[in-house]
Amino acid sequence: INSKLPNIETSIFAIMSKMAHEHHALNLSQGFPNFPSDPALNALVDKAMSDGFNQYAPMAGDFDLRMEISKKIENLHNHFYNPETEITVTAGATQAIFTIIAATIERGDEVIIFTPAYDCYAPTVELFQGRIVPIQLKPPFFRVDWQEVSDKITSKTKMIIINSPHNPTGMLFSEEDMLQLQDLVEKNNLLVLSDEVYEHIIFDGNTHQSASRFEALADRSFITASFGKTFHNTGWKMGYCAAPEKLMKEFQKVHQFVVFCVNHPFQKAFATYLKDANYYLKLPDFYQQKRDFFVNLMKGSKFKINPSQGTYFQMLDFSDISDEGDIAFAERLTKEYKIATIPTSVFNVGGSDFKQIRVCFAKTDETLAEAAAILKKLP
Ligand code: PMP
Ligand code: GLN
Repeated sequence: INSKLPNIETSIFAIMSKMAHEHHALNLSQGFPNFPSDPALNALVDKAMSDGFNQYAPMAGDFDLRMEISKKIENLHNHFYNPETEITVTAGATQAIFTIIAATIERGDEVIIFTPAYDCYAPTVELFQGRIVPIQLKPPFFRVDWQEVSDKITSKTKMIIINSPHNPTGMLFSEEDMLQLQDLVEKNNLLVLSDEVYEHIIFDGNTHQSASRFEALADRSFITASFGKTFHNTGWKMGYCAAPEKLMKEFQKVHQFVVFCVNHPFQKAFATYLKDANYYLKLPDFYQQKRDFFVNLMKGSKFKINPSQGTYFQMLDFSDISDEGDIAFAERLTKEYKIATIPTSVFNVGGSDFKQIRVCFAKTDETLAEAAAILKKLP
């Protein structure tokens, strides 16, 4: 058949996890924890199944869960999303992102993304015949130049996709970044897709600057989040989208024909679990300890490290170790050193190939210690 995505290969996450498995390598590539999800949460899933929540959930999601999501956002960001009309539970953030783009992007629409960018944005835009306008973020700090963004906006620009905390760089948008973004989207009548899957994994006392905190921005934004990332169960594929009613209406027109609804017992479990805010409020400390543990262990290695500000990823600059491209370097690490990482150039949409690999530190301290010991062996 005539491929709709002729330039797209298998996702790097599938490739590296497979390579890790084949070479019996420590897998710090694809982002997932190697510790269990909370037994109390697992028990709530069992209970929901025993209680009979085994048939279709409402199309937008279990209402109790939508209420809890709405309360959580209001408590943290002081913005009210109506659980009746402004929240939809999705099969992870990935399905939310697909649905947002499917519902909004038409042939010829321009979509600005900051690259390196998480891998699902560009192909989905391409699938709906939109045009990606990449803006390169540059090491070591990967900050956005808002003047450059302003210069790249044209009459065809429809949407800006943002992701803070940022995968793979660990960069955070500041309040000032969000105000600059708000100014541009208001002036130019744009939509925003705000990928906030790492909203609770944020370090050094910083506050997550959700698009929902800024009124004019919230009015134009689809926000997506992921329970998998927040509650250590990426394999459950649970998340949500929040947006003002006029946008959510269009989202749901597509959502109902993509999945109709997502699995019911897990929604019931999260509806109860989310009532205790401590489960997500303790995450910054939990992951900051892991980041610090790993970064400290890496002292004396030949990698250059700029500590991640958020997400559970750390970039490692290998320019003092090798002249190889990052893909060749990551392959060699997996095969010879038995440690799998992610080469970050695959996130660079039409961009440069800087010498950085990404490791996931959502791992037990034993795994992190083992990983650091291997990485420190590199001459
Ligand atoms: N966005 C970003 C930035 C991610 O890192 C991921 C991976 N979790 C997703 C979206 C997709 O999230 P989910 O696993 O909930 O589909
Ligand atoms: N978000 C995860 C990462 O960045 C991977 C998710 C996936 O495998 N698609 O590693």
